[in-house]
Amino acid sequence: MRWAAPGRVNLIGEHVDYAGGVCLPFALAERTVVEAHTRADGRFTARSTAEDGVVDVALDEIAPGSPAGWAGYAAGVLWALRAAGHAVGGLDVAVTATVPLGAGLSSSAALECAVALAVDDLYGLGLARTELAAACVRAENEIVGAATGGMDQAAVLLATAGHALLLDTRDGSTRQVPFAPADDGLAVLVIDTRVRHHLADGRYGARRASVEKAAAALGLATLREATLRDLEGLRDVERLDVDLLPRARHVVTEIARVAEVVALLDDGRLREVGPLLDASHESLRVDYEVSCPELDLACAAARAAGALGARMTGGGFGGSAIALVPLGRVDDVTRAVCDAFAAAGYGGPTVRTAEPSAGASRVG
Ligand code: ADP
Ligand code: MG
Repeated sequence: MRWAAPGRVNLIGEHVDYAGGVCLPFALAERTVVEAHTRADGRFTARSTAEDGVVDVALDEIAPGSPAGWAGYAAGVLWALRAAGHAVGGLDVAVTATVPLGAGLSSSAALECAVALAVDDLYGLGLARTELAAACVRAENEIVGAATGGMDQAAVLLATAGHALLLDTRDGSTRQVPFAPADDGLAVLVIDTRVRHHLADGRYGARRASVEKAAAALGLATLREATLRDLEGLRDVERLDVDLLPRARHVVTEIARVAEVVALLDDGRLREVGPLLDASHESLRVDYEVSCPELDLACAAARAAGALGARMTGGGFGGSAIALVPLGRVDDVTRAVCDAFAAAGYGGPTVRTAEPSAGASRVG
């Protein structure tokens, strides 16, 4: 049997999911497909068309860093479900994917969530999607060692076609927000810079640590509770850690921008969100320092060629940018971005149109 889980793009609300913030991802048409079978020998075996070789471990050997590499994302899900007390036995998985790896489109969550659905069905666990999402987050945090928040897994498991998913990471609540760009004569372009980031390499964790330190310094549980005025209280701490104030300012202003975008979408005014996308990018570039020259160029070239707004999306340090583009300008914007990359001596980007699509499901 097979299960498929989509990649996701975050429309806005970046690097706030570990600060109790709100974000607005939607699922892509691109999918990771897992063909899975139970095994009676208590082992986990895995292959992927994206990687060489076969991974073969006993369930009891799954632990932080084991198995190393890509299979940790899949094996980690079994580990997390077993750690939560569920009766999960051996599994064999074969993975194929149209979600690009490491492009900021969450191939990691797509892989985890497809495996989670497979385990849930094959072992008859009957878990809610929110519970499966939690197991996937634990897999990525604890087995792979990537300090990601919960946005990706929620988007992959809970998104519906024609909507973005408003996720409140403070309490895990979600709401489907109407989001059908084509109905407004618009498209969301996803520009994959082909610069590959490695979230597990420490920079993501450093940002997360700064955000947690800032909240603690202000005596708050999370920065969700902070106002811009509260951040003045960080100036003293700032002498010890000059990054703290701008990092916190990104989180606080980004959460406010999400609310503005949601209000516009609820009001049928998608065309007006462009400046908020631009402001998000600036905040991520200047205050949070998670952009890179290729992402900056993709956004600038897209805007110059007629995009209403553009921003990096995902964890940053490479990966993808999104641009909100009138349908009549899609070809111009695509060409302009490719030309700008060529002129800068960068490798060719991949540009695709993102169609807000359904979340993960069994496919046969
Ligand atoms: P993103 O989630 O943005 O694509 P990550 O660095 O979080 O980037 O996750 C990418 C990693 O997830 C890959 O390097 C690989 O280890 C694993 N992965 C994702 N999809 C697959 C797949 N189809 N086959 C094998 N490994 C995969
Ligand atoms: Mg990922």
